[in-house]
Amino acid sequence: MNSKAIELKHNHSLKSLTTIKIGGEARNFFIVNTVDALRKLVIKLKDSYYILGGGSNLLVKDNRLDNGVIKLGEGFDCILQKVKYLEVGAATKLNSLIKYALQNNLGGLDNLAGIPASIGGLVAMNASAFNRDISQLIKNVEVMDKNGEVKQIKREDIIFSYRRSSLSNYIVLKVWFDLPKDNNLKIKINNCMKHRLNTQDFSYPSCGCIFKNPEKFSAGFLIDSCNLKGLRQNDAQISLRHANFIINLGKASYSDVDCLIDRAKEEVHKKFGIILEEEVKRWS
Ligand SMILES: Cc1cc2nc3c(=O)[nH]c(=O)nc-3n(C[C@H](O)[C@H](O)[C@H](O)COP(=O)(O)OP(=O)(O)OC[C@H]3O[C@@H](n4cnc5c(N)ncnc54)[C@H](O)[C@@H]3O)c2cc1C
Repeated sequence: MNSKAIELKHNHSLKSLTTIKIGGEARNFFIVNTVDALRKLVIKLKDSYYILGGGSNLLVKDNRLDNGVIKLGEGFDCILQKVKYLEVGAATKLNSLIKYALQNNLGGLDNLAGIPASIGGLVAMNASAFNRDISQLIKNVEVMDKNGEVKQIKREDIIFSYRRSSLSNYIVLKVWFDLPKDNNLKIKINNCMKHRLNTQDFSYPSCGCIFKNPEKFSAGFLIDSCNLKGLRQNDAQISLRHANFIINLGKASYSDVDCLIDRAKEEVHKKFGIILEEEVKRWS
């Protein structure tokens, strides 16, 4: 690794670092490559920072962010086969892990194929698809707390629920996965990708599903039932393909997306009496 332990960029645009391509500048943007540098930074910033993973579940305001933004760099991007488990750095892209799994006939991750996220973000958010969540594959997680202390937490001591985990108060540094052997991974991944391409909207930038699915119904079904597919606010649009996706047709802003989110909440509440809860994380 040739990178510096820490790199600071002033007034760094976050737009290209979010999958929906929306976001203003971070006054202080840090790329951190060592645990030691991260510890010092976390102590210095106290609680005033955000952690950026793959940016695939984020809605970032258009104005400048005063909180520091920390991105784990290549020092946290690694996949190592240990005796029993696979050790994966938090900055590793899911795509890279899936490639590794394919080469080594390791299964379990096929349902998540196609998600443009980092391992740290996936684990902190307990990403799931097709009724399987990533927590089921985890053995141990290494985290840093707000005081810069590093510790390992066993799977059984972490609380995981739908799109949530007790890890969100920490910075995830490393994850040990227990992936089962699977010789049919390629077929499973192809099926998953086919399903995603048929049901989700990949034609324009988005941050995936905006809302969590309430009990009994999918948020997409509820929004669609209110005839909101295709609704536009400037360059933000409720996807015609998947009503729980908001896409950026070009120059959508935070407030354009915010406006569509409010409208969807309002209409669904009026028609069904259900309050939609946001899945997307806002930095505002
Ligand atoms: C096309 C598309 C399809 C998607 N499909 C799915 C799906 O099927 N299932 C699903 O669950 N999600 C899906 N998502 C949403 C998203 O990919 C997940 O929520 C993912 O977990 C976000 O990971 P990330 O690395 O991009 O995190 P980011 O978007 O960068 O951050 C999300 C949250 O995680 C925190 N975070 C990031 N890294 C760390 C870390 N190292 N330690 C602690 N906290 C961290 C951030 O601070 C933030 O609060 C999809 C998104 C897109 C764009």
